[in-house]
Amino acid sequence: MKLRLAERMYRLGTETAFEVAARAKALEAQGRPIIHLEIGEPDFDTPEHVRRAACEALEQGYTHYSISTGLPELREAIAEYAGRLRGLKFDPANVVVTPGAKPIMFYTIMALIEPGDEVIYPNPGFPIYESMINFLGGVAVPLQLSEQRDFRINLTELESKVSSKTRLIIINSPHNPTGGVLTMEDLHAIADLAMRHDLMVLADEIYGEIVYEGQHHSIATIPGMMERTILLDGFSKTFAMTGWRLGYGIFPAEMVPHISRLIINSVSCTSTFSQRAAIEALRGPRQPVEAMLAAFRRRRDLVYEGLNKIPGLRCNRPAGAFYAFPNITDTGLDSRAYADYLMQEADVAVLPGTSFGEFGEGYIRISFANSAENLREALRRIDTANRRLPAVAAEIGVAR
Ligand code: PLP
Repeated sequence: MKLRLAERMYRLGTETAFEVAARAKALEAQGRPIIHLEIGEPDFDTPEHVRRAACEALEQGYTHYSISTGLPELREAIAEYAGRLRGLKFDPANVVVTPGAKPIMFYTIMALIEPGDEVIYPNPGFPIYESMINFLGGVAVPLQLSEQRDFRINLTELESKVSSKTRLIIINSPHNPTGGVLTMEDLHAIADLAMRHDLMVLADEIYGEIVYEGQHHSIATIPGMMERTILLDGFSKTFAMTGWRLGYGIFPAEMVPHISRLIINSVSCTSTFSQRAAIEALRGPRQPVEAMLAAFRRRRDLVYEGLNKIPGLRCNRPAGAFYAFPNITDTGLDSRAYADYLMQEADVAVLPGTSFGEFGEGYIRISFANSAENLREALRRIDTANRRLPAVAAEIGVAR
């Protein structure tokens, strides 16, 4: 029997980070001392007080379904916390809790996009945007982010991408994979465009608290934007809670019942004891988060300075998130070949820029969610590998 998959399955993309991590683990199993710079999750443990809250919740019987949109007390805590961060007042009724923030992308596109509708998304960018748009029958319109503009949006280009079919713009600041951060000026221009063309905006602000220069700005603060913005955020990054699967969206009121039905039809709700722990994350001690952010800042400086000393690389200073996105074109290799080279020759796992879309060619993504000691060693190894590059490239037959 030949399995016949639905046609849409061939339009579904993936996140290469998981595949590269698997290859790195396989090499590790052979005894290779791989340094992992491919993974997009904090290397810190979930704060102790949060873990304790989950254990207590289990003891207290939070082991059943919750309301599809989340526990009312968590939605309240999120509205308060997310509002405080952005200087806004959110209504808990607009908050929808999901198992991780990723489903917010899926549900938003599912709820808003008809086949043939266009969605503008950042490229390079988080690969799930493009994958979900294609999967759900939309037309993915890439908006190139360039190093010359510090990976911020080129507003003239954005305007040129808007057509009568455009329905949604996806923005992500601070940005994965480049560490770019949008300014208030950028956001005003995007908001102006959205209002003129009656577009919705999915604002992925999952790295909103990981900002090294200036402060985080949300497009939702611009008058008139709350009603056309879906704000995506979650616990994975700020609270080092990737495995808990806890995220949320803050939606325009009208969308909430529809998103709730999508949840009922797919996952029913988010794990209830995780939700109780999430309340503790938001309302409990801040010290562990502050310590993690301070460590990220030190590593950001270390990686930025280190990369720019390595022959063949140049790197903008990441303004947010925990990624550096160095330009590797002077190595003479393409992104994929160079990432493979580093894995094979330097025992350092990184992601090719093309894991984040076609305009990631010429770059690699380095996650600095690893100890300063490992980052220093990785930089040393990359430096050695790059100095050997001409000879080795000829030997292993990669194009230069
Ligand atoms: N948005 C961006 C830009 C991300 O980088 C990630 C995770 O890597 C997510 C959203 C999803 O996070 P999660 O589903 O773990 O909450």
